[in-house]
Amino acid sequence: LSDRLGGVFDRLTKQGALSEDDVRTAMREVRVALLEADVSLPVARDFVKRVTAKATGAAVTKSITPGQQVIKIVHDELKAVLAGEEGIPPLKIDNPPAPILMVGLQGGGKTTTTAKLAKRLKERDGKRVLMASLDVNRPAAMEQLAILGTQIGVDTLPIVAGQKPVDIAKRAKTQAGLGGYDVYLLDTAGRLQIDQVLMDEVAQVHAAVQPRETLLVVDGLTGQVAVEVAEEFDAKVGVTGVVLTRMDGDGRGGAALSMRAVTGKPIRFVGTGEKMDALESFEPDRIAGRILGMGDIVALVEKAQEVMEVEAQDRMMKRFQKGLFNMNDLRGQLQQMQKMGGMEGLMGMMPGMGKMAKQMDKAGLDDSILKRQIALIDSMTKKERANPALLQASRKKRIAKGAGLEVSELNQLLKMHRQMADMMKKMGKGGMLKKAMAMMS
Ligand code: GDP
Ligand code: MG
Repeated sequence: LSDRLGGVFDRLTKQGALSEDDVRTAMREVRVALLEADVSLPVARDFVKRVTAKATGAAVTKSITPGQQVIKIVHDELKAVLAGEEGIPPLKIDNPPAPILMVGLQGGGKTTTTAKLAKRLKERDGKRVLMASLDVNRPAAMEQLAILGTQIGVDTLPIVAGQKPVDIAKRAKTQAGLGGYDVYLLDTAGRLQIDQVLMDEVAQVHAAVQPRETLLVVDGLTGQVAVEVAEEFDAKVGVTGVVLTRMDGDGRGGAALSMRAVTGKPIRFVGTGEKMDALESFEPDRIAGRILGMGDIVALVEKAQEVMEVEAQDRMMKRFQKGLFNMNDLRGQLQQMQKMGGMEGLMGMMPGMGKMAKQMDKAGLDDSILKRQIALIDSMTKKERANPALLQASRKKRIAKGAGLEVSELNQLLKMHRQMADMMKKMGKGGMLKKAMAMMS
């Protein structure tokens, strides 16, 4: 998306605020990107409406492009929708033994997620956890959970053949109470599709144990289907939270946005692999970035806003327009680059530029060059900085020594300064500078 937006805004000139046209053009791209990320149409439409309202007329920070500005607004709004108004509350697992019911379709990742969650509760929260499989449909389902239990060191309810799910659930409740467990997780059977038998079974279990949390486990790659499943389960038994699995795949995470926007249910965790550690807390920030499919452009925008003092920048521009560019000006520019993370930092934040940054690193154009150049300027006197023409051999020797560097490096710096000053002079005269600055930023 950021590439797209970048393209759109390359053609635009800079103005004081985002115009309606700017925003409209950008929003078409945003909408397409959301749909590509598997966000449902009504959700995408609604989202675009909200962002349009926020972006139109928003002041453009001088140091960043309108495109970057819009990306930031879109990103922030995505984050807000994903986090929900009230944020993500902690799991209700006080009052032991607290039952957690895991529901969802077959193959969504329920059994795996049950074990991952048990491990997490045990290791991070220091809870004593019991797991029970209520899946009497698939022959090996109960063994699957028992094996995972052994693997992660969490107890599972002993398997008794021929029991109905609701009876197993009751047995788990009793056992959790007697055994002094803090939490017990009930892994239910799933079907390939939602049907009455499945729903009745889940409803029965729900009524029998009154779970503190009913977590819906859905495949995050199924997009719209995941949202429909969530609505069905919520209508029948009441869902308190969602776990999106397979977020390690190449899906773009759009299901998360639809899920939150349509159902209003908090997404609590995301599954990021088959291993028992691959369960992460849901982080709106990260998913927002993923939906936008960008490098770290938002971070770049934030940094630019932080660093650039608009007035200082204006003052500098005026000097440049007059063709003035002394060592103090150069120092200001170098420092600016340094604050933004140096060459590598700057490039690394732009999508697709990582490779180039590495090459530059090899060529010796790394961060430390900025430091050395600034050190050289710092060891000049005030007069020398204002008028670098003063620098003859003896002064050069003194300056290089003061910075702990070679004269050759100082010569390079002076050459760079001359070139830049020349450029400023030429461009300042022809009114080119303004255009160039607009193009660069
Ligand atoms: P259930 O039928 O809902 O109980 O689903 P399972 O827990 O048996 O999982 C079905 C398959 O999905 C298994 O092969 C799991 O290893 C796999 N799986 C579950 N969660 C994830 C995940 O977050 N990422 C990936 N890549 N695979 C997962
Ligand atoms: Mg299962």
